Amino acid sequence: MLAPVRCFTCGAPLAHLWPEFKRRVEAGEDPGKVLDDLGVKRYCCRRTLLSTVAYIEELVVYTHIGFKKKVRPF
Ligand SMILES: [Zn+2]
Repeated sequence: MLAPVRCFTCGAPLAHLWPEFKRRVEAGEDPGKVLDDLGVKRYCCRRTLLSTVAYIEELVVYTHIGFKKKVRPF
């Protein structure tokens, strides 16, 4: 859902790599080559970035649904 902050296996920080990785892959570059350029060597980190599907922008559109009722304060 969200871009990965850290590798799920080894804990290496990945959040700073996500925007460039996403931009370059969407521009048509080979994902493996982008990961090589970014210096991501471990296969667990490569797997984490490659398998991420960031669909938060698509979900944000529907966040107002279900909030028609007046929300009572606690
Ligand atoms: Zn890792």
